[in-house]
Amino acid sequence: MYIDTHCHLSKDYYPDIDFIVSENINAGISKMILSGCDKKSISESIMYAEKYENIYVTIGYHPEEVSNVSIDEINQLKNIIKRCKKIVGIGEIGLDYHYEKESKEKQILLFEKQLEIAEELNLPVVIHSRDATLDTINCLQKYNVKGVIHCFSGSLEVANTYIKMGFKLGIGGVVTFKNSKLGEVIKNISLENIVLETDSPYLTPDPYRGKVNSSKYIPVIAQSLSSLYNVSLEEISKVTTENALNLFNFRKK
Ligand SMILES: [Zn+2]
Repeated sequence: MYIDTHCHLSKDYYPDIDFIVSENINAGISKMILSGCDKKSISESIMYAEKYENIYVTIGYHPEEVSNVSIDEINQLKNIIKRCKKIVGIGEIGLDYHYEKESKEKQILLFEKQLEIAEELNLPVVIHSRDATLDTINCLQKYNVKGVIHCFSGSLEVANTYIKMGFKLGIGGVVTFKNSKLGEVIKNISLENIVLETDSPYLTPDPYRGKVNSSKYIPVIAQSLSSLYNVSLEEISKVTTENALNLFNFRKK
């Protein structure tokens, strides 16, 4: 059994949601955590979490939403969280200086506001950080929060910095790519610091690149880690599942 700690489920990419969900469960995925990261995906993800037992959700405004969202709307997240028991964290939130480098100040403001809510509600955070490592670390250090560095792709030094701060690294399809250096970094980090994620429909693992990604490919990522660590697939499944269960706030419905 596996937990996909980060995926996106929407009619926009999957015409038959019932089919995809049961296909994922049949592939051994016991829980899927959807990332609701803008107004539309927040409400769509919550709808699926209410409908399907195995689906949970994190909500928060992605840094690319910087021009579409107000502080007031961010404050509304608290009410949404109170209403839905299947919201297990806040995210994906963070900083993206690759696509949005003109808006650093407002991104930091929105990011910190959401970190403040996570701290207040004692919820883990799922962090999106692109070309913004130093500012991300600076913001995180101001709050008493833990969580996942989603789609981690940094150096060993950066990995260890995040781990010391209490964060897990979200590892997905990139680790299966032949030209990726991620495996070399991950090998030097204990498995206790890793959670599995697909970021589906994006970042499909090898050898399925070109197809639409989905949680059913989590075992392919696990296989890659099994080779890297030289441990059994069962061990990868057991440890990464425990890591996710310990981190996210799974409550009874
Ligand atoms: Zn994502």
